[in-house]
Amino acid sequence: MGKTFSIISLGCPRNLVDSEVIVSEFKKKGFVFQDEAAKADTVIVNTCAFIEDAKKESIDTILKVIDAKKNGDVKRIVVAGCLPERYGKELKKELKEVDEFRGVLDFKRAGERTTSLTPRHYAYLKISEGCRNKCTYCIIPDIKGPYRSRGMESVLEEAEGLIEKGIKEIVLVGQDTSLYGIDLYKKKRLAELLRKLDKISKENWVRILYCHPANLENDVIGAIRDSRHICKYIDLPIEHISDRILKEMHRRITKKDIIRLIRFIRREIPGVALRTSFIVGFPGERDSEFQELLSFIEEIRFERLGLFRYSREEGTPAYNLKGQIRELEKERRFSQAMLLQQGVSRGINERFKGQILKTLIEEKEEDRYIARTEYDAPEVDGCVYVRGKDLKLGNFYNVRINDTYEYDLTGEVVQG
Ligand code: SF4
Repeated sequence: MGKTFSIISLGCPRNLVDSEVIVSEFKKKGFVFQDEAAKADTVIVNTCAFIEDAKKESIDTILKVIDAKKNGDVKRIVVAGCLPERYGKELKKELKEVDEFRGVLDFKRAGERTTSLTPRHYAYLKISEGCRNKCTYCIIPDIKGPYRSRGMESVLEEAEGLIEKGIKEIVLVGQDTSLYGIDLYKKKRLAELLRKLDKISKENWVRILYCHPANLENDVIGAIRDSRHICKYIDLPIEHISDRILKEMHRRITKKDIIRLIRFIRREIPGVALRTSFIVGFPGERDSEFQELLSFIEEIRFERLGLFRYSREEGTPAYNLKGQIRELEKERRFSQAMLLQQGVSRGINERFKGQILKTLIEEKEEDRYIARTEYDAPEVDGCVYVRGKDLKLGNFYNVRINDTYEYDLTGEVVQG
């Protein structure tokens, strides 16, 4: 077995947290971490198998690593995560060059993480694992199991450690963070967790991702509104707006209640950035229902929006639904919705022109810096290109916005 190792982490931030635990485990065993996968003796691929595109990316990556092993560059391959959890038997048969397969990580091991794979100034913190919502298109409850919250003490302890280390942003993740506490404490306690995190925060932001709209309580919105450190940013995956499709998806919420919730959030937290995601091309999605979705996007004007083409996943209830939509048609709907959102996003960004925003400097790129505001989550949202001299990565600066684009902003550092 080789002495150096590397990891390729695919998929979402929740998977990245698992990758960090795996890296910590290998380091503890005496392996030396190597940034560049091509130079490591052992390469771990932590896979994602949520939708078709993710599976394809996982397989392609494994095949590339297998090539490297055949060339003698890599000695040992470990494949972990959702793909072997879902297709373990088939993979073992097909990919003989892989030395070890392991499924998804035991959630109890979340506290074993001693290594961070994100830039030093932000960190993901997993507050729950698994899911109990059973959306009909989603395989995650089968892969990750039932909903389990992490104890509040343990979350707070880890957060405290991160803050002590000088982390500037803690991003709370889970399949559905709004249910936090329901299994352990028999009631939802996300609002309480946020209030406590706000209290122990120093110079840092805290961001919460993945709040299912049907489970989000008003007191969570109150906790964000009243806080000093929780980002005024709510990630609220809605997935569709037609009542018929919401029901077919088993989202357990209606259009009327979604609209009521959005109005409430915007009234309570003025200036909040709302992020959502939609699936286009769900089985049986009629043209009129797709048009209803477009009108909704236009009317609500989400600050941030992610779009997905429906992916037909074996083992999910929606797999057997009638009226599966052709890939070409899904693509057409996807492009149309994307185009619409581009215009919405451009209009929203224009509002920032001339304003001074607090930004976190993330990277230097040639003669400018790349930063984010509290309205942008790492990796998925836009950024601010900042002109300035000798700025410190991982520090906050006030930036006057002088130009705006579809998804990004540009500006200059101002004093104070
Ligand atoms: S909330 Fe729905 S889409 Fe999200 S992980 Fe759970 S079942 Fe899947």
